[in-house]
Amino acid sequence: MSVASARSVPGPPDAPTAELSVAGFGAQGEIGGGPVVTRENPARTAQCVGHITTTTAAGVASAIGGAETAGRDWRRRPLAERVELLRSAARAVAESADALAPVLARELGKPIADSAGEMIFAAAFIDHVCGRVGEVAADRVIDDAAGRVVVVREPFGVISAIVPWNAPLILSALKVAPALAAGNTILVKPSPIAPFAVTAALRTIAEFLPAGVLSVVHGEAEVGAAMVSHPSVRKVAFTGGASVAHEVLRGCAEMLTPATLELGGNDAAVVLEDLSFTDATMERLVFGAFLTSGQVCMAAKRLYVPEHRLGEFTEAFTAAAERVLVCGDPLDPEVTIGPVATAAQRDRVLGLVRAACSAGARSTELGRTTSAFDPDSGYFLRPTLVTGAPDESAIITEEQFGPTVPVIGYKDLDRAIAAANDTESGLASSVWSDDVELAFRVGRRLEAGMTFINSHNRSGMSLRVPFGGVKRSGFGREFGDAGIEEYLQTHALHLPGAIRDARPSAAPAGNRYPV
Ligand code: NAD
Repeated sequence: MSVASARSVPGPPDAPTAELSVAGFGAQGEIGGGPVVTRENPARTAQCVGHITTTTAAGVASAIGGAETAGRDWRRRPLAERVELLRSAARAVAESADALAPVLARELGKPIADSAGEMIFAAAFIDHVCGRVGEVAADRVIDDAAGRVVVVREPFGVISAIVPWNAPLILSALKVAPALAAGNTILVKPSPIAPFAVTAALRTIAEFLPAGVLSVVHGEAEVGAAMVSHPSVRKVAFTGGASVAHEVLRGCAEMLTPATLELGGNDAAVVLEDLSFTDATMERLVFGAFLTSGQVCMAAKRLYVPEHRLGEFTEAFTAAAERVLVCGDPLDPEVTIGPVATAAQRDRVLGLVRAACSAGARSTELGRTTSAFDPDSGYFLRPTLVTGAPDESAIITEEQFGPTVPVIGYKDLDRAIAAANDTESGLASSVWSDDVELAFRVGRRLEAGMTFINSHNRSGMSLRVPFGGVKRSGFGREFGDAGIEEYLQTHALHLPGAIRDARPSAAPAGNRYPV
């Protein structure tokens, strides 16, 4: 595993180098007023990607005020009208993919094709929500001997959304699309580590909407805390790590504000005895672990493999990595592994690998590099497979969130399942087998919000599948109908049976929201 030191190297001739600047926006236009912070290019740490004007606490309060005012009209608009505006916005986001992909690649180190894919995926998600919200938000009528109940679905009001850096637009869209379609207004705070592309994409969406319906603020903990503690905020949607989640939840408890928390995981991939190590299967597993240099909440972070097949597995996994993992500058279309996002991230991952190796594990570098690859130009870590780590090693017990994965041999499937479940988190997991029935039975025994069969991470994602964790991976769901429900609350109108005679004869329409 190679480590970078900060050293200036010239970029490829066509690499965009212009410094960007970004500020928040709300009902009254651009908002800022706070200190300006800079973000370096993690692939070329001597290069500044741009400057971020942070938002003051007063700016946050004024954006929330603007969102509250805008919400009075927005929630009363026919759902079909909201959906039409969001569909147009989704098309514009998809059209901006080519322009914004290099920005995301530069600020985050995400390979250019994946960066473009993020824009397209976010746009597809917005469109998907538009297609489902009519049914999810429809009134429910319950008619029985006790009377008639009409359950209508109402928006909450102002939503505060706080997102991390690893997939900034997708993780924002998962909140923005259902919140707005359901009639809420929303304030988004991206991470200062990757604020540029997501702000541009959110501005594109906001241009289709009345002022104040979608706002963006910038900054770190203080700005996030101001978004959580404001009395006009009716729900908080947070994606990030557990320690910040504690802070967020404390703020929500103070205000009695409901929250959804999408936190990290330490996903196990359990390979069963019979799995054929075909090229396609192994490549899916490699990307399951190493997509975005492993900086994905639901990456495969521990691989459990039958002990007697460990040698064969390692060989097939290494060969697959050699075919598909190419380390280098994320702007190079050939590259599939960019740098990690920050020096702290690099040092943490490196520390985990070194500690495991000091305890007797062996690490093997995986994949290839481009001919122009310079490991010292940025926060680069070559992907590594760690074998023979003791069970109690931090590389097994903690989320590494970087391009390294331990492979753990097992003799007995029951013990492998127990080991996979022996963690406080439970975001995703996967089971790999030629026998799909068996894989489903094993999958049922894994403690996770989502279990993929013969896929993991991107290869298993579907817009219609509810996504979220069990145990300390958070609560609430994104994606699927459940992810829309999160932004609707029920209002039950009850006509008791005892006064049935007074009941209006015309039944209310079952669905007020035909899309
Ligand atoms: P983080 O928790 O450090 O930061 C998340 C966001 O919270 C950022 O916008 C940050 O600026 C903000 N923040 C920081 N302090 C705050 C405070 N006191 N109050 C309010 N907001 C505050 O997480 P990160 O390092 O940006 O992201 C990595 C973590 O996110 C990993 O643990 C990863 O597993 C998790 N993650 C989870 C999912 C999911 O859907 N479950 C998706 C992606 C990432």
